[in-house]
Amino acid sequence: MSVFSAQSYDQHELVAFHNDADSGLKAIVAVHNSNLGPAVGGCRMFPYVSDEAALDDVLRLSRGMTYKSALAGLPLGGGKAVILGDSHRHKSRELLLAMGRFIDSLGGRYITAEDSGTSVADMKVIGEQTAFVSGVTSRQRFGGDPSPYTAYGVYCGIRAALRFQRGSDSLKGVRVAIQGVGSVGCHLAERLLRQGADVIVADVNAANLSRAERLGARVIAPEDVLGVRCDILAPCAMGAVLTDEVIDKLRADIVAGAANNQLQTAGQAEHLRQRGVLYAPDFVINAGGIIDVYYQQQGASAEKSERHVEQIGEVLTQIFQRAEHEQRSTHSVAESMAESIFKQGDKSSLRVPA
Ligand code: NAD
Repeated sequence: MSVFSAQSYDQHELVAFHNDADSGLKAIVAVHNSNLGPAVGGCRMFPYVSDEAALDDVLRLSRGMTYKSALAGLPLGGGKAVILGDSHRHKSRELLLAMGRFIDSLGGRYITAEDSGTSVADMKVIGEQTAFVSGVTSRQRFGGDPSPYTAYGVYCGIRAALRFQRGSDSLKGVRVAIQGVGSVGCHLAERLLRQGADVIVADVNAANLSRAERLGARVIAPEDVLGVRCDILAPCAMGAVLTDEVIDKLRADIVAGAANNQLQTAGQAEHLRQRGVLYAPDFVINAGGIIDVYYQQQGASAEKSERHVEQIGEVLTQIFQRAEHEQRSTHSVAESMAESIFKQGDKSSLRVPA
């Protein structure tokens, strides 16, 4: 297994592996860049098919957090943790306490938060061993579910995309297809429906689907959602959904959703541009959660968090304008903008005191 020469290594500052025989914990923490502040990112628990898959996931995700926090104007670096195992079968109090000790041993270079396979309650257990866990001084001690803020950011981003493309951000009658109505997708559907949008949803989880249906969304089959005729496609399930094959068949004018790493590779961003689809880069539009995690840590109010999340729309508008002007993909422009901030540790672009 290669580490330094792995494609996803990309100048990571720190990668720490931990094995705790007593609890069965096997975990990796990756810190990509901390020029702007301590690395913050969620702790994912997943039954990876191999150690290589776990390493690749943590490296890609922590790199993504650096870019996300930089463009969100937060004084944070990018990091992530993964626990190798099935959260339903292998998670225990002992394992979470061992994870807390591991994070504590890094001395604050990495601050953790909930993610897929971990919950706010798990963060509370981790917090028994370390202060480096999101929300310890927050309005909701030990964190809180950031997904309503992620959904709000996606909603603001959708309106910015409509404004840029059509000159109006009215959602009345606008058709939005949401792939995945879990925590984020369902909050998003609710907001859009309240504004008069025509919301179509698809999911593989029947309970989540019926919750969205009760709100007034129309249900379609999961295999149809990526090719359905709509104004906006909002991927809110999993990553790598935007393959060349999918992009060829897209019948949406805009792609704007919460899922991380939606592009199969960066090359698909140019394919979207060639097809005339306006793509809201995922790491920009889905920053609402990390923004809220930051404000929770500061013990700041939900209103402060919301005002900051609303700025996602303005950042996206700048990206759309520059991409049009430079005839580049929105993804490539967003990456360049983030790099010009974090590589120099340029704190002048932060939207909160460092
Ligand atoms: P979630 O697990 O609550 O919801 C995901 C939903 O997608 C589930 O209902 C699941 O059944 C559904 N799904 C899975 N496979 C599917 C398929 N093939 N077709 C249709 N639906 C499918 O997760 P979430 O917290 O809502 O996050 C959604 C996405 O947004 C994830 O990719 C996550 O990494 C990303 N994200 C979430 C946050 C957050 O604050 N929760 C922040 C940033 C990014």
